[in-house]
Amino acid sequence: MFTHRTDPGADGVGVAFTSAEIDLGDRQDAAHRAAAFARVSAALGVPIAVVRQVHGADVCVVEAAPAASGLIDLTATKADALVTTQLGIGLAVRVADCVPILLADAAGTVAAAVHAGREGLLAGVIGAAVAAVRARTDAALQAWVGPHICGACYEVPDAMATDAAARLGVGVPTTRWGTLGIDLGGAARHQLEGFGVAVAEVGECTLTAEHLHSHRRNPAAGRLAGIVWLAGTH
Ligand SMILES: [Zn+2]
Repeated sequence: MFTHRTDPGADGVGVAFTSAEIDLGDRQDAAHRAAAFARVSAALGVPIAVVRQVHGADVCVVEAAPAASGLIDLTATKADALVTTQLGIGLAVRVADCVPILLADAAGTVAAAVHAGREGLLAGVIGAAVAAVRARTDAALQAWVGPHICGACYEVPDAMATDAAARLGVGVPTTRWGTLGIDLGGAARHQLEGFGVAVAEVGECTLTAEHLHSHRRNPAAGRLAGIVWLAGTH
């Protein structure tokens, strides 16, 4: 069910990324979606909050105490990042090629989840999320960058590739087809490090790893989730 999972240790922060074994997307009917979230929630031991992602830069602050278990459905809210200081709530972003980024401070007091595709990176969603975390802690920040389409697979029109690279301050990758692409993960790392955040990369390329959901490989693909939670060991 998970391609990466680190349960809370001394830092009080848990992080997990799901696999294509489970679909946490909104294309499926409500009962299947609820069952999928219930499975992941039970495995992690926290309810999971999701919003409606729109490739923007808005941050949803999750303050409500969790209701029972399973899904905390905030999909009436349009946002591409979630932040919380509440203990025992999983914050999830859902992706299938875009970059899922989980953030937490070293004190285990603030967590955030970020959905960063091409548009979100250009809109500044990472900076918005880091600012929301920074407003709540002075401690060092750590990011986990999960599975996403790599620069060798994310082929886009030449003009889009060069424009994105220029605006993101990163190089233009050549794809394995010899065309131009965008290195979403490299751009995310560049931005995070620019904000002084330590970065750990914990995911494979979604397009080439069959155990991951990829929209490019299958337009009807489900969604993976990156989930972060605070355990309150402090
Ligand atoms: Zn790839």
